Amino acid sequence: MFEISSESTVYSLTFTLAVAATVVCLANLLFIAVQGRMGKAQNKLFVLLLWIVAINGICNTITGYVTPYMADSPLALRVSDIARYLYFIFHTALAPSFFFYVSHVCGVVFRAQRGKGISYYLIAIATEILVLVNPFTRWVYYINEERNFVRNWGEILIYVAAAYFLTISFWKLATSWSALTPKRRSGLIMFTTITMVGILTQLCFPALKVELFAEAIGLTGVMMIIENEDDRIDGETGLYNRQAFIMDLGGYLLNKIRLHAISLRIDTPEIISRSRGAANRELVEKRVAAYLESVYVKHHIYKIGRRTYVLILFNKSDEETLSLAETICRRFDKPWQLADTLVLLSCSLLVADIPKQLDSLNDALYMFDSFRTDKDKKKILSGSDLDNILRGSAIEKSISNGLAEGKFEVYYQPTYSIDGKTLHGAEALVRLHDDEMGLLYPDEFIPVAENIGLIDAIDDFVLMDVCKLINEQNLNDGTIDCINVNLSVIQLMKPGFVEHINGIVEMSGVDKKLINFEVTESISADSYEIMNSAINALKKEGFLFSMDDYGTGYSNMRALASMNLDCIKIDKSILWEAEKSDLGLIILENSIRMIHQMKLDILVEGVETYDQIKLLQPLGINYLQGFYFSKPVPKDKFLEFINTARNS
Ligand code: C2E
Ligand code: CA
Ligand code: CA
Repeated sequence: MFEISSESTVYSLTFTLAVAATVVCLANLLFIAVQGRMGKAQNKLFVLLLWIVAINGICNTITGYVTPYMADSPLALRVSDIARYLYFIFHTALAPSFFFYVSHVCGVVFRAQRGKGISYYLIAIATEILVLVNPFTRWVYYINEERNFVRNWGEILIYVAAAYFLTISFWKLATSWSALTPKRRSGLIMFTTITMVGILTQLCFPALKVELFAEAIGLTGVMMIIENEDDRIDGETGLYNRQAFIMDLGGYLLNKIRLHAISLRIDTPEIISRSRGAANRELVEKRVAAYLESVYVKHHIYKIGRRTYVLILFNKSDEETLSLAETICRRFDKPWQLADTLVLLSCSLLVADIPKQLDSLNDALYMFDSFRTDKDKKKILSGSDLDNILRGSAIEKSISNGLAEGKFEVYYQPTYSIDGKTLHGAEALVRLHDDEMGLLYPDEFIPVAENIGLIDAIDDFVLMDVCKLINEQNLNDGTIDCINVNLSVIQLMKPGFVEHINGIVEMSGVDKKLINFEVTESISADSYEIMNSAINALKKEGFLFSMDDYGTGYSNMRALASMNLDCIKIDKSILWEAEKSDLGLIILENSIRMIHQMKLDILVEGVETYDQIKLLQPLGINYLQGFYFSKPVPKDKFLEFINTARNS
């Protein structure tokens, strides 16, 4: 009669589990080979993990197979010894490999941090050497005369090293938690939990060798969840998609990995889609993707948007990165083959040093999504170009927050009559207080505000502030002639603008002739017409109008003469030039003569010295403005000028 002892049950279970672990790992390896997912270091490390567990499984299977014969057969003994030796060699590599794998999943790139990974490699290699030399040293384990397996101090060292690698793996996971997608988190948690259960079970029941099987199952889960990159791949080009880019760059930034990024945008899609349809757009994207793959490794190329690609480069200098960008740029000098036609495409490129220039995912995405190169100018943006783009983005934010949080302030720069003593009024000049960037000047933020459509709100704010000042200080008592308020030409030409402005001033009850709007010259003839009708309408309401920055544009005299203006403001550059050269003086004198003939008042800006006043006084101009009298100052300071004028 055949009796099943509990020992033999455990034995056959162990044997079965070893076979199962081997089969599972080999099947996974086969699957990966068929799918061809082996590009990145992360994928390679995963394959290594599978091989380690598979070989360990094979070793255990062999040991299990020969065990019944060991009592009689020296060959079986020899085979069992070799299998155990191989098991130790590979099993020792498991913990460090796991650590390197986890690090890669979390975005650590050891290659890019020279020297940083060395200590890990050294520990891993040292433990491997310890096992490899064991047949001679017996430091790790040996078989005594009674054929019992005896652990030596070397094995304790290996355990300590394994515990170390597992601990730092967990640490890595914990510190990179925020950069991991929920999917990756669950994959890694699953693998570690199942493996831990296996290790603990084996620890409590040493005969029950479930650890390997648990590892094999855990790895299968990881393969399905983390190594499966279907949702990271762009269907059309086969490159990584935007989601993959966000995930990977997030990891690199979190781990402070130094890298370079080249972003490429194809700029001439309109011609393609208009003339040949959407299918050609896809074809263009595919052609360019294929070209990029031919000049750089595929698994570091991402397609982050329509016609926008990013290449991530590790361990490359600025020059090397720029040179690759130039190579790519030059390719666009040649036509691209689309089906049976050839097309020329234009492109813009941007080169960024990360994290030096872009240290957050938001900044990076903003940059790669929105960078533009000027047509006909530079095609590759790099270095300080990026700082300008980023500053633009910071200013955009500052403007929209500033409006909501009351961070704008109107400064006033007094204007004087030509005698240099009588206060004429002031020009309202807006400022923006930014918590980080400090006081921002309109030359920088007004163009941005115009771009993002917030100039109306700013100009409204300034006009209301001016009305408030006039009311609060009763400035209609003759102390001043008028306050000058700048208007953006873009706004002036908007339908309904006249009514809007009128509404604000009427609501405040301010006398309209105390407000002198300043506009700058516009060069196009059509806009002159629209501008003129808006100016006429506002003049009819009683407002005053000045032409600002005379002499900086094309100064179309005929158009200027046809406009219904009160005053011309001669730009500071004309004054400064007149001081420097005879030709400059001729230009200033003739400008003044011409404006006089048009019967308009003249204000000269940028008066900084008494000599300039002396120069201007005989020329018969009316008003002066400049640092000689005062820089633009906050309202309180300006009130001192008012009080002085009232008391004199
Ligand atoms: P702008 O209208 O030509 O204003 C005169 C600018 O010259 C002011 O610069 C002023 O500070 C500066 N300035 C005045 N006197 C002198 C001087 O003696 N020497 C020198 N070196 N500079 C002098 P700011 O305040 O930076 O304004 C720059 C521009 O921003 C203005 O040029 C105006 O075009 C625009 N701006 C200012 N406030 C507003 C506003 O509320 N709305 C709009 N749409 N534009 C504004
Ligand atoms: Ca002005
Ligand atoms: Ca001006």
